[in-house]
Amino acid sequence: MNAFRYARARDVAGAMATVAADPRAKYVAGGTNVVDLMKEYVEQPSLLVDITALPLRAITHSSDGVRIGALATMSEVADHPEVAALFPAVVQALLLSASPQLRNMATIGGNVMQRTRCAYFRDISQPCNKRAPGSGCAALRGVNRQHAVVGGSEQCICTHPSDLAVALLTTDAIVHAQGRTGERQIPFDRFHVLPGATPQRETVLESGELITAIQLLKSPLTKSSYYLKVRDRASYEFALVSVAAGLDVAGGAVRAARVALGGVAPTPWRSHEAETALVGQPANAATFAAAAQAATRGMRGYGENDFKVALTRRAVARALAHAGGIG
Ligand code: SF4
Repeated sequence: MNAFRYARARDVAGAMATVAADPRAKYVAGGTNVVDLMKEYVEQPSLLVDITALPLRAITHSSDGVRIGALATMSEVADHPEVAALFPAVVQALLLSASPQLRNMATIGGNVMQRTRCAYFRDISQPCNKRAPGSGCAALRGVNRQHAVVGGSEQCICTHPSDLAVALLTTDAIVHAQGRTGERQIPFDRFHVLPGATPQRETVLESGELITAIQLLKSPLTKSSYYLKVRDRASYEFALVSVAAGLDVAGGAVRAARVALGGVAPTPWRSHEAETALVGQPANAATFAAAAQAATRGMRGYGENDFKVALTRRAVARALAHAGGIG
């Protein structure tokens, strides 16, 4: 690990000003991602600004839903009764993530900012456009079993590792961020960006901008939402494919639907195609199979990850059956 300076932030404005003034400065809260990356020389910040003393930990309930402070831990959110009642997929995703020890440390803001687990990204002897722009992508013709089947580019085919971020797409979640020009609200489905020609850029946040909270808006479909995670082993493992599904069913027909995928794209991936195939149709296995087919349209593998297309199809149908109460 390289030498770095450490500062403890006392207020949001001070933290932001400090990080914005130094392009190599980074925020640290739970430290479960950035410290790992520093040990592997993937991240080499000159300064870590510790934000854990900032008053950003509250989880508050209102008539619209729940507002989660960015420093609330994964465990605190998973244990929260209102989150469990209104957004079951969010709690399921959290409890299927990491380990209890990590969930006690890792924060919600950090969770949605975590970086890919692509092995080449974490091995500084390998070419990786995300870590070292212009160096190439070792995964394109390398070991790519874990990699993306949709949304990637010739520059990068990594997957986003967060379970929570996938589940948040079943809600109309809003990221509250504080920047140099004030606070802004970013719809969560526009928060992450695809790699395109600039895989080093992962979110719409500007330099120094700090997530202060994530707001979850309830709707009829969030209450029945369900998170399915398929992985190589039953605990402490990232998703090969995951699906967050929410359905609003009335009179046997689907009134509204949300389908989001994890483990298949460089960002949490919302399938508008699957949602369109569901709305107005009977909530039955045939409809769910058609939606699953629609969800995988346009997906392609890179060799070792070809299996993910069929796995996604099966996982979407199964998650929808659970969300629709016939699983
Ligand atoms: Fe790097 Fe992305 Fe290629 Fe992995 S997939 S080696 S993160 S550029």
